[in-house]
Amino acid sequence: MILILLGAPGAGKGTQAQRLQDKHGLVQLSTGDMLRAAVAEGTEIGLKAKSVMDRGELVSDDIMTGIISARLDQSDCKNGAILDGFPRTEAQAEALDSMLTEKNLSLDAVIEMKTDDEVLVERVTGRYTCANCGAGYHDSFLKPAKEGVCDKCGGTEFTRRSDDTAETVKSRLQAYHNQTAPLLPYYRGKGILKQVDGMAEIDEVTRQIEALLN
Ligand code: ADP
Ligand code: ADP
Ligand code: ZN
Repeated sequence: MILILLGAPGAGKGTQAQRLQDKHGLVQLSTGDMLRAAVAEGTEIGLKAKSVMDRGELVSDDIMTGIISARLDQSDCKNGAILDGFPRTEAQAEALDSMLTEKNLSLDAVIEMKTDDEVLVERVTGRYTCANCGAGYHDSFLKPAKEGVCDKCGGTEFTRRSDDTAETVKSRLQAYHNQTAPLLPYYRGKGILKQVDGMAEIDEVTRQIEALLN
């Protein structure tokens, strides 16, 4: 099963993708995480991507489709994958269609996480992640049971993304509305677009996604 989670920065894609991964044995493919790993390793792609990401703009379609295509070929994706943050442009969506055909895979559903822009700055600026296992948290909306200790792995070190600032969110939102939102009619036309209320509480969003998948 190949699923796409589509939504603005802070809509909850990563949060729900982690839950789907744990529950359904699908692999979460977050292009943002892959790019951040490339930046941290200082690879050629990472060097190119860093300044683009810090400006809140989009990394080139060629780089992104190359990364996803190579990743889908790895054996852990054979049961399926959740695409979190890809595709983000029409060119990426078209490239994904042809690569899936080539790899004999099919796209089962595209789930739009609908949110109002007003909530996204607070979501993004309050976001942090366990440095050890990558579990995501929020200062107000998703705290670990014990403050400062990761629920999943017991880790006590957390990181925040350098692009999770109020200013960058504005450019990222603009990129979302200009370049990514056009994918909604694209997938609606294919009859595979579904929607959940991204404004609802995290557990409720999970329930809505599970209901769609059943
Ligand atoms: P995305 O991957 O779409 O950018 P995340 O899943 O990282 O978004 O969510 C952004 C932040 O908002 C995280 O800190 C997360 O804990 C929190 N969050 C996610 N979904 C919700 C929700 N439905 N209500 C409130 N906070 C949420
Ligand atoms: P968010 O979770 O807030 O939506 P991501 O972690 O998905 O953000 O992406 C962070 C940054 O990485 C983006 O602002 C963009 O610069 C880059 N990026 C991630 N995925 C893509 C993509 N598919 N195409 C172009 N740029 C991307
Ligand atoms: Zn952890």
